[in-house]
Amino acid sequence: MKFTNLTRAEEIGANCYLLEAAGVRVLLDAGMHPRESGALASPDFSLLGDRGFDAMVLSHAHQDHVGCLPLAMRQAPGAPVFMTEATAGLSDVMLHNSVNVMMRQREELAAQGLPLFTHREVEKMSADWEIVRLGERLDLGGGGLTAEFCDAGHILGSSGVLFEAEGRRIFYSGDVNFEDQTLMRGAKFPEKNIDVLIMETTRGDSPTPHGMTRRTEEDRFLATLQSALDEGGPVLLPVFALGKTQELLALLYEAKKRGALQGSFGLFVGGLSAKVTAVTDRLRGRAPRRHGDLKLAECLPMEVVGGRDIANLPVRSRTVYAISSGMMTENTLSNILAPRILEDPRAHCMFVGYSDPRSPAGRLRAGKEGDEVLLDPRHRPVRRRCRLDEFTLSAHSTREGLLHYVERVQPKKLLLVHGDSPAVGWFAREVPKVSPQTEVILPAPGVPVEL
Ligand SMILES: [Zn+2]
Repeated sequence: MKFTNLTRAEEIGANCYLLEAAGVRVLLDAGMHPRESGALASPDFSLLGDRGFDAMVLSHAHQDHVGCLPLAMRQAPGAPVFMTEATAGLSDVMLHNSVNVMMRQREELAAQGLPLFTHREVEKMSADWEIVRLGERLDLGGGGLTAEFCDAGHILGSSGVLFEAEGRRIFYSGDVNFEDQTLMRGAKFPEKNIDVLIMETTRGDSPTPHGMTRRTEEDRFLATLQSALDEGGPVLLPVFALGKTQELLALLYEAKKRGALQGSFGLFVGGLSAKVTAVTDRLRGRAPRRHGDLKLAECLPMEVVGGRDIANLPVRSRTVYAISSGMMTENTLSNILAPRILEDPRAHCMFVGYSDPRSPAGRLRAGKEGDEVLLDPRHRPVRRRCRLDEFTLSAHSTREGLLHYVERVQPKKLLLVHGDSPAVGWFAREVPKVSPQTEVILPAPGVPVEL
């Protein structure tokens, strides 16, 4: 039994792994690197060699897990791809959007080799996706290797996958949250008899301050938003289109209903966010979540802004711009609107999740009021005069939550993936204290690990 990390570096980046068991080669996710572009954004599929893979499982529809799926399929045409119904609905939207983004990049930046794949490829491929139910046992090859999807509580449809082969149980966490969010329920992961655990480590470098819980962060966020609106300024909330936007809509709706947020305010969301929200509403009752009947697209008055309108969109007072991307990547809505918000002393910028320190949002968050920040190398730096606040409303489990899971599972082997090196390092130091029998493995890119 073997595991190979097919990503190009040991960092949060993208996800793509090969599991070989009982003579079957299974690909786990095929993500696109959020900061790289062109071929460097893709996993190193050359490591698959001529044999490609026999089957693939997709944990969820975030770009860093699904973004290179069409490229992966060129390595193994016709191989079955397994995912939940929600992941299929959301991946379809995300991959078509990705083609549109790459076409725009080709036009605007004269970028070579784009798009990496086409709308037609996505269409053909998505018709063949195999939809699985949580808890269903799948045969991935002659009965020798089975798989079962388990609710991961991260975004709609997200799953961990439990494999059984050669009398052993291997569990791949994908991205996970053990705590309830506003919309998502906490993960329901297996804990018994797991021999090998392959676990994400995104928040390994973020200690949870004493006394901080999801609820205290929500309350602090709502109080700050209320005062920002009362002061009359516009509010920029850079959020991911998939997951964070829907959580935020549910949070704002709930807060308004119970009086924790008062007075009316304008609300803008991006075009992709609106599409993802529509899929989320269509899947009501079909995937685990809280507020099962709530139609997010109708729960608050909101307007939709697209890439063509954002540059000329008037910035209004008492208005929330909940637009992507969460890391304010160049050419996204939040990056394009940001200068007009940042230079306005009445305005407010609020971050609710993780930003890569090397992203425009990361650079902005590292500075202080009055500092200049470079949001896009093609434009002049912007001086921040607005207020800026940060909140931890992450869709990922806290590092303490992940460590506690390892403690309950006591796996024989633990493979740490999807984390920058300080994050992975924290787990490598802490796991032996709670699970002393566990062999901790940091799978280097391209080097097969014998399990
Ligand atoms: Zn994710």
